[in-house]
Amino acid sequence: MTQHSGLCQSRARGPAQGKLVGAMKSPLKFDVTELLRSQGTDALPEHRVQTGPAPERIGVEMIGIPEGTEVKVDATLTPLGSGVLVDADVTGTLSGECARCLAELHPELDLHVSQVFSADESFVSGDEAEEEDRGSGDEVPEIKDGILDLLQTVIDEAGLSLPFAPTCEEGCDVDAPDGVTTGVSGEEERVDPRWSGLEKFL
Ligand SMILES: [Zn+2]
Repeated sequence: MTQHSGLCQSRARGPAQGKLVGAMKSPLKFDVTELLRSQGTDALPEHRVQTGPAPERIGVEMIGIPEGTEVKVDATLTPLGSGVLVDADVTGTLSGECARCLAELHPELDLHVSQVFSADESFVSGDEAEEEDRGSGDEVPEIKDGILDLLQTVIDEAGLSLPFAPTCEEGCDVDAPDGVTTGVSGEEERVDPRWSGLEKFL
């Protein structure tokens, strides 16, 4: 089993370099070494698509992407001086159980995350100093050794957007009274497909 990576602060602040081998297997990890070097007019957003096995389970208790299941990460990395803004769509096949009839569910995950990562501690100071004093608890995740890891961001987002009580999309085959297939809890979490394309404009 993998160690839980919740405590990601304050380890190895020193200058460590290289050692990308092996660490790059996760599709959620991006090598941004070159991107951080780019300055001025060279600092253009970069689009990258990575596919690979989920390094650990992503999801909530009843539904999630099991460890090892293939996920695709379609990311735009925007250099911000000593930080990087990541906008990414994470897709993959979820595994779960219907909360009512316990049938297996395998809907597609389509998660969007947007997160700023900092490459050094000075990144959050300056104009943002006042905000920092308030101690909101929302720390900017760090880029370590040139590697930006979206895993925790994606796990957090999945925890917010996946239904805690998933149910069969078209109603359960068993134990479902006639005509009562809508209005189940969790359904409002699903975005109407007609609107999903508009989300980015909201
Ligand atoms: Zn069901």
